[in-house]
Amino acid sequence: MPNEKRYDILIVGAGPAGYTAGLYAARAGRSVLMIDKGIGGGQLASTFRIENYPGVSGEIPGFDLAERMKTQALQFGAVFSQEEVVGLVPDNDLFVVQTTTDTYTARAVILATGASPRKLEVDGEARLTGRGVSYCATCDGAFFRGKNVAVVGGGNSAVEEALFLAQFANEVTIVHRRSELRADKVIQEEAINNPNIKLLYNYVVASIAGEDKVTGLNLASTAGGPDKFLPCDGVFVYVGNIPNSQLVRGLVELDEQGFVLVDDELQTSLPGLYAAGDVRHKFLRQVVTACSDGATAATAAAMYLSKKGA
Ligand code: NAP
Repeated sequence: MPNEKRYDILIVGAGPAGYTAGLYAARAGRSVLMIDKGIGGGQLASTFRIENYPGVSGEIPGFDLAERMKTQALQFGAVFSQEEVVGLVPDNDLFVVQTTTDTYTARAVILATGASPRKLEVDGEARLTGRGVSYCATCDGAFFRGKNVAVVGGGNSAVEEALFLAQFANEVTIVHRRSELRADKVIQEEAINNPNIKLLYNYVVASIAGEDKVTGLNLASTAGGPDKFLPCDGVFVYVGNIPNSQLVRGLVELDEQGFVLVDDELQTSLPGLYAAGDVRHKFLRQVVTACSDGATAATAAAMYLSKKGA
């Protein structure tokens, strides 16, 4: 294979799991490449604040924490490249990793591609995306200064990002399908006590209204109540995530939702291929557990290579 670039460990995806894997693999003395189709940081980079990463007390913007992780991995010799990986093929003892611009070979690969926002899949959503429908409050929130917005979902993301939006929107309405939020109690209380945030329980979005821009949400009751129309200028959707596991579909075992199944060392069903962070089947998806995964996968991958004499 002419011009292929060789690494011991290649990491696909550079969020907290990927960066930590890069740090640990580099410190294990391995040549490491971290590839991301964007600038890196994953979902962490667009998270407005993090206040539960141990050792970082107070609040830190997600972007800043991600940048610190990247700097640390680079300091120990990991290499970062912004490219999109389009193919991953096992070839004897190696993996051939194809990007849109290059071909690499690696002795072990760590998949740390994370997850992407789940869509509501309702009428108006696709047409009005970028015209009032958004999946990233940190990216688009500033466009809604003094306006009324809705946030759909009841998990940590929905409540955290509603708190962010409440800083400059006129009014934020959290629309949740049940009568109880799923988010951690501490931020639930913050939202409940925020004068700019209203909670609307037991409703789902039936469709998003608006011609050129969002004008409101048609809501259907989940508790037998009347349907209603919620006028708003924007809607931020936080109804969970879907795994970015397309690259390994058909190559390794996935669960029924598409998350990658791994063993205790985070090895997939294919030896030498590991999965770390939100892309894998796991109990708790947090920055700290993504980092933990990165450390485990990199250490296991380095030991796997040592055992093979590589
Ligand atoms: P999540 O925890 O899966 O919550 C998704 C929310 O959307 C749930 O409240 C769910 O309702 C609702 N939902 C799902 N499908 C829906 C639909 N079709 N229509 C209306 N509502 C729907 O997702 P997330 O909040 O994005 O968080 C993802 C992971 O990251 C979680 O593990 C979370 O803890 C973690 N995270 C942590 C932090 C933090 O610790 N600060 C911040 C952000 C994210 P039900 O409750 O009824 O299921």
